[in-house]
Amino acid sequence: MVGCQLINKNKAAGLVQLLWISAILFTMNAQAQPYDLLIRNGQVIDPKNNIEAKMDVGIRDGKIAKVAGSIPSGQATKIIDAAGLIVSPGLIDMHTHVFVGSKPETFADGFLSVSPDDFTLKAGVTTVVDAGTSGWRNFPVFKEHVIDKSKTRVLAFLNIAGNGMSGSPAEQDVNDMDAFLTSLMVKKNPDIIVGVKIGHYEGSDWAPFDKAIDAATKSNTPLFVECHLPQFSLEEQLKKMRPGDIITHSFEKIEERMPVTDEQGKLRPFVIEAQKRGVLFDLGHGGAGFWFAVAVPALKQGFMPNSFGSDLHRFSMNAGMKDMMNILSKYMAIGMSLEEVIKRATWNTAKAIHREDLGSLSEGNVADITLILVKDGHFGFTDAGGNVLQGSQKLEAEMTIRAGKIVWDLNGLSATRFIPVTSK
Ligand SMILES: [Zn+2]
Repeated sequence: MVGCQLINKNKAAGLVQLLWISAILFTMNAQAQPYDLLIRNGQVIDPKNNIEAKMDVGIRDGKIAKVAGSIPSGQATKIIDAAGLIVSPGLIDMHTHVFVGSKPETFADGFLSVSPDDFTLKAGVTTVVDAGTSGWRNFPVFKEHVIDKSKTRVLAFLNIAGNGMSGSPAEQDVNDMDAFLTSLMVKKNPDIIVGVKIGHYEGSDWAPFDKAIDAATKSNTPLFVECHLPQFSLEEQLKKMRPGDIITHSFEKIEERMPVTDEQGKLRPFVIEAQKRGVLFDLGHGGAGFWFAVAVPALKQGFMPNSFGSDLHRFSMNAGMKDMMNILSKYMAIGMSLEEVIKRATWNTAKAIHREDLGSLSEGNVADITLILVKDGHFGFTDAGGNVLQGSQKLEAEMTIRAGKIVWDLNGLSATRFIPVTSK
């Protein structure tokens, strides 16, 4: 018995020793590899932090842990070689319609919206803002069915119409536009709802517009104005808007709203004045919202959109808009620099929606990152008027990382190289 106890004691001592050695090795290993993912050799463009340089980005626990000139490769579990690629904050799309559902004729819970993950990740987009497809009544359905189920971060402007974009007559019912209940829903969901939207109203009174401003004021958020308000002149709308409010479809040239430029392509003075005052202009490309005849002369006169909302929905993505990468490339074709287009799809948008925790590669931020390939060649970009403009560069989303996880990898940068077994 004594001998047996002695053997057990020795065994126990050996086990303790083994555990100690394992613990030390584990600690050493953890110290040696503090990053889950390391993106090396890429050209970082981070407008918020004024970075345009070759840098490495270390990611740990889904967050950006370090951005530095060189991070040794031995310090990471997985390494992505981003040589020749741009490393950008994950893109934010300011204007989308993603409250997808089965109703055939509507955007709200309907077939006219699209499922975000199907179109965002492959275009380098990690965050979308839904432009008022839901209102205070049906936001909970939107949250449960889409927002909570998507890999893409889905934020939202809440429509002043109680049921959002449910078509007529619901969208025309002024009695169902409630500033108090709208602001209450915004306040109840501060991590998701970033503002209030007005749009698609055909009446001639200002009540919906005023109620939307009231709801935005009550919830201390920006107002998002999506035209389709044919009775209100552009000048009147801009006048009512507060600094920090956002108007979309900035380069539209259709019957129902006056373009920002006049017949000679000259910017209207009240438009320049509004932007100076702090009103923000979102691109809002959509199916009919972007015309070279307006955007090109506007850019030549120094008028640039503050953000690059795509107005993604069932009709726009197969027309001239296509996706966010195409919008950025299009603006490069008409004369904007790569740094400027990235700024409008990241930091500018984050600031506009009061989410300064997004849109940059600041250490401590959630690791939403896009790796972009700049392709040289001959490319055509189209607008809503059936015009094409030639460009020599096109951006492509090589890899999209959402909260530290690779969610899109076009050419298998993160995959193990397949080596076929050869028989002798
Ligand atoms: Zn829209």
